[in-house]
Amino acid sequence: RFEDVEFGTPIEVHIVRASYNADPFEKKVDLGVGAYRTEEGRPWVMPWVYTVRQQLAHDPTLNHEYLPFLGCERFTRCANELLLGDNSPAIQQGKVFGIQSLSGAGSVRIASEFLCKVMKYKTVFIPVETWENHYRLVTHGGFSDVREYRYWNTQTRTLDFEGLIEDLSAAPANSIVVLHPCAHNPTGCDPSHEQWDRIADIIEERRLFPFFDIAYQGLASGDIDEDAWAVRRFAERGIEFFCAQSFSKNCGLYGERTGNLAVMLNNPDKIEKVKSQFIVIARSIYCSPPSQGARIVTAMLGDPKLKEEWKTCLREMTNRIKDMRKGLKERLDALGTPGSWDHITQQVGFFSFTGLSERQVQLLREKYHVYMLSNGRANMCGLNTKNLDYTANAIHDIVTR
Ligand code: PMP
Repeated sequence: RFEDVEFGTPIEVHIVRASYNADPFEKKVDLGVGAYRTEEGRPWVMPWVYTVRQQLAHDPTLNHEYLPFLGCERFTRCANELLLGDNSPAIQQGKVFGIQSLSGAGSVRIASEFLCKVMKYKTVFIPVETWENHYRLVTHGGFSDVREYRYWNTQTRTLDFEGLIEDLSAAPANSIVVLHPCAHNPTGCDPSHEQWDRIADIIEERRLFPFFDIAYQGLASGDIDEDAWAVRRFAERGIEFFCAQSFSKNCGLYGERTGNLAVMLNNPDKIEKVKSQFIVIARSIYCSPPSQGARIVTAMLGDPKLKEEWKTCLREMTNRIKDMRKGLKERLDALGTPGSWDHITQQVGFFSFTGLSERQVQLLREKYHVYMLSNGRANMCGLNTKNLDYTANAIHDIVTR
């Protein structure tokens, strides 16, 4: 028994995190983790979260009963409105419903299983550069045909829009296309409004199925409406979609596993059947989702004052990240570090796709204790005014070797 068990495929973010934690070096810098950090380098519990937790602690009507299999309906309604806007015609026409799942990852997982097993879709396209868990989630959800579409131009360090369009135009009809609506992980580079419309054209023409994964609403531009533009545009055009929605980053509720799978379909009569299939899937994996995070988000989204406080927090986070991007670029420019570093300030969201090679990333870790992912993805939230100089000097040294 257990003799033949081999190690599972290592997961890079965990290795980076473990090596960082085990590193006793005082000035070590963590740009690997995919979470927000304050100027002090700490996780942030936003003030409105404390307020809501106090309210919940004193609410005698709350208990710890199971949530329904598809989660709390008030939560999914609030989440859908956040995604599509308060006055969304698609919501008013009854074309949208939500399933509360185990945050973004859980939503991608159950959606994949539904698309594969119930809808019998065969092929899913993910960007060449994407959240490294996408491949795992869609394959464990049942897809064996996972293909890639081009996303990133290594030379220009911008979106490879022609490549993207070429690849999606050649996709077999009825393929699923995974799309990041904002703050693309890992490149920090998003299509423009015009480019999204072009993507929507191809998706319609080729009869592809858009599967959005929005994990950073409010953290790309600092504005929740602007960051949901692409999804709202698809809804407006009447294009059916799935959208996995995470509250890990924008509400700082990482460990609470708070997310929603928003589903838009043009025939509301189909909703109950679709839901019944999702009940089977949820029940077979985890039965029902956890309640605490959903309660916190629902309370905030339902209270105009708390929602404003949340929006202020989103702006604070995005502004701090922007300052760190600017600080890093300015320092590299001042040092005369070879190459252009404009992309650091042009990219949005948590990550900068630095363009550093795997070898350079390794050297940064070994020589300077600066940790990032081997593909050169660096979390800008890991920077602060105390480690900017150190990090810029480290990058300069590694690049000029
Ligand atoms: N999608 C993307 C693109 C992400 O970057 C992440 C988090 N790294 C997620 C989904 C899911 O995160 P969670 O499961 O915590 O919501």
